[in-house]
Amino acid sequence: MKTVLITGTSSGYGRETARCFHEQGWNVIATMRTPRPGVLPETDRLRVLELDVTKPETIDAALEAAGPVDALVNNAGIPSIGVFERTPMARVREVFETNTFGVMATTQAVLPGFRERGSGVVVNVTSSVVLGHMPLTAVYKASKTAVEGFTASLALELEPFGVRAKTVEPGACLTTNFGETALDGDSLEEAVPQPYLPWAQKVMSGFMNQDVFTKESDVAETVWRAVHDTTGQLRFPAGPDAISLA
Ligand code: NDP
Repeated sequence: MKTVLITGTSSGYGRETARCFHEQGWNVIATMRTPRPGVLPETDRLRVLELDVTKPETIDAALEAAGPVDALVNNAGIPSIGVFERTPMARVREVFETNTFGVMATTQAVLPGFRERGSGVVVNVTSSVVLGHMPLTAVYKASKTAVEGFTASLALELEPFGVRAKTVEPGACLTTNFGETALDGDSLEEAVPQPYLPWAQKVMSGFMNQDVFTKESDVAETVWRAVHDTTGQLRFPAGPDAISLA
């Protein structure tokens, strides 16, 4: 029986992905920054463990408790919507700490096991924002675009060892932290002060009227497919040459 470790399963896409893998008969290590009883009922195949992607000691402890895993789903993430000019650098670093460095840290922690066993897959949940352009998301988009580049290069580095790395780019969904609290402020007026406000209100209402919303179950299913798909790997150059820098 295969085992998946998923980050950020206390809500939204992560919780639904944990349910999906459990229904498909996998062992699920559902990790949460703060485990909350009842969010995901534990079974003989679903264990809830603490893992905060910004705290390396919790990553190590969760992996130790989990035992060997076959797939890692880096789902944990935080939003950031606001005017870049007004986004404190501390907030920029906080977003990158979770969305970018958190992904790298958990990935680095599972790789020795994957490589030694000659199998394993990392799926990084980024965002459809990386595929198009949307204002007010400069920091968020940068944090997720970095993960796209990281994953594409990593896939080549790991391919000779039978290990895969992929991304999934969901569209928007009003999940726990991605509804109104996605704003970098207590209100649109605070996240997007004058003189940006009138224009930003137009952008936001245009966005809400677009057909960009994604169901949590669709994201879970796409992650499930990404874990199984062996055809979508980048292939230049293929095989062992991928690690040759000569
Ligand atoms: P939610 O806010 O519902 O879930 C985010 C999850 O990440 C929560 O479980 C949260 O935990 C967890 N998390 C946040 N910070 C950390 C951390 N430091 N360590 C571990 N876990 C953490 O949002 P979604 O389900 O929508 O988000 C899931 C992923 O999907 C994110 O990567 C997001 O960027 C991406 N995404 C979301 C979109 C959307 O519109 N919803 C669109 C495109 C991509 P806690 O409960 O403790 O806060």
